[in-house]
Amino acid sequence: MFAVEDLSAAYGPVKALNGVTFTASRGQVTAVLGANGAGKTTLLRTVSGLVKSSKGSVTLNGKDITRTATEKLTSYGLSHVPEGRGVIAELTVTENLRLGGLHRATGSEPMPIERVFELFPRLGERREATAHMLSGGERQMLVIGRALMARPSVLLLDEPSLGLAPRVVAQIFDLLRGLVQTEELTVVLVEQNARSALSIADHGVVLNLGKVVASAPAAELAADEQLRHAYLGF
Ligand code: ATP
Repeated sequence: MFAVEDLSAAYGPVKALNGVTFTASRGQVTAVLGANGAGKTTLLRTVSGLVKSSKGSVTLNGKDITRTATEKLTSYGLSHVPEGRGVIAELTVTENLRLGGLHRATGSEPMPIERVFELFPRLGERREATAHMLSGGERQMLVIGRALMARPSVLLLDEPSLGLAPRVVAQIFDLLRGLVQTEELTVVLVEQNARSALSIADHGVVLNLGKVVASAPAAELAADEQLRHAYLGF
């Protein structure tokens, strides 16, 4: 479904990714975990072509998308929700969602907005609110909903829990879990909040200094005390 093979990237002399290999399956959440600076964001940015890879490949639905121009990737079914919950603050929730449907997977219609509101009822209640009025959790739902409008088969999510209260994180992660199943998505979830991410993930990949140090079913990683202490911070 989605495969990263021997992917490497650098910022000048800093080797941020060093031969990363993993696969992610349809209908599953694959959590990419690791400490600050482990290379998680760089991994997503390299997959999306925002950072140029120096080696390796990325395959999506059997198609090699390595070095495909970033703006073409939505047409292949890849959507990337970066860190920071960037929305157009002056537009309403509905207008922001519509923008997400403008460039979408080839041959598909945008997700009906009402479907987004079914998946995220809170967004439905706030549909006419301008985005700058939203709470952090609502904004996070909005950026995920906007990405879904493009009908992706693979959704890359960078640190959706950052700065949110634990109760809100639990709510977002629950929604994400449901979404993966009903929409048959492949989700690659980058998180520093390893405990919460592993609680909803099927599989986990742990990065350290740009390399994969563990890749296993989420429950197995969560049960590995040594690994948790060394790399996951819980
Ligand atoms: P965080 O959770 O803090 O974002 P991360 O695991 O996502 O960490 P990256 O942001 O991918 O890690 O950083 C990996 C390495 O690349 C780090 O050593 C970081 O300092 C370096 N790095 C990241 N972005 C740049 C950049 N634009 N220029 C130079 N070095 C960078």
